[in-house]
Amino acid sequence: AKAAGRNMACWFEPDMEQRVAVRAALEADLRHALNQGQFELYYQPQCDMQGRMTGVEALVRWNHPQRGLVPPVEFIPVTEETGLIVPLGRWVLETACTLLAQWAGAPRTAGLRVAVNVSAQQFQRPDFVEQVLAVLAATGAPPQRLMLELTESLLLTDVEGTVGKMARLRDAGVGCALDDFGTGYSSLAYLHRLPLAELKIDRSFIWDADNERHGGAIVHTIAGLGKAMCLDVMAEGVETERQRAFIAAAGCHGYQGYLYCRPMPMPQLAEWMSKHQA
Ligand code: C2E
Ligand code: CA
Ligand code: CA
Ligand code: CA
Repeated sequence: AKAAGRNMACWFEPDMEQRVAVRAALEADLRHALNQGQFELYYQPQCDMQGRMTGVEALVRWNHPQRGLVPPVEFIPVTEETGLIVPLGRWVLETACTLLAQWAGAPRTAGLRVAVNVSAQQFQRPDFVEQVLAVLAATGAPPQRLMLELTESLLLTDVEGTVGKMARLRDAGVGCALDDFGTGYSSLAYLHRLPLAELKIDRSFIWDADNERHGGAIVHTIAGLGKAMCLDVMAEGVETERQRAFIAAAGCHGYQGYLYCRPMPMPQLAEWMSKHQA
């Protein structure tokens, strides 16, 4: 057993060192990317059950000079661990609110919302609410059209603080959605205390809804919960007509997914909207 232990140490140490080095390089790269403006927002349209566009979710991408377009799963966790999510999240919010202000100025787009993902690390900063209000004021974006998407991980710590911040945002007109609902820490005990506007059903349940009866039961339960609590229920990751029909029957208010439209950079979104609304 001792020999095996020694062997394990020999096998794992270089690997660990390598991992630490790769991480450090990635962190430096991300810092550089932020300064160089290598991040870009893609926008995925959201619609109501009649297929009318109601807004977009902003999804960050990294345009890496060598690696090309890097999806958020490959860098958001590192930005969260290093605190870089705070300046990155601020940039995302500023960029999204700039779009919102533009849309608010034109009759055809004035009713559209923009949803922005907010990490727990970002939300838990003491000055988070002030930052949001400052960005809204600086860009001229209407607070009523901004939706912040938060995850259940927020509820692992400081439920009081979370409730207080959400209430202040709501008083300012900003809505909060609980994202990836059902996948994280069970928030059922706190749900009724949170001043939420919307529940977002995670894509994994929508996928199941098509294949397994239990996934379908979860979609029905979340939609029923939303209805009972007077919350909008939005489904994500709707890819097929069958899934759309299913979530409609379950009582969801809206959805996003490849069936309606994929996430796109701004020029393509503008083109899609001009065709779609015509
Ligand atoms: P999310 O908030 O659950 O976002 C939905 C993800 O599902 C997006 O992945 C979107 O591209 C993808 N998606 C949309 N429709 C479909 C569909 O029909 N089928 C499938 N298979 N996928 C679909 P994406 O853009 O790779 O983002 C992944 C996650 O990264 C997001 O999950 C969110 O948690 C995080 N993220 C993205 N942008 C930001 C950001 O600006 N800030 C923070 N903190 N997190 C972000
Ligand atoms: Ca989201
Ligand atoms: Ca999410
Ligand atoms: Ca999700």
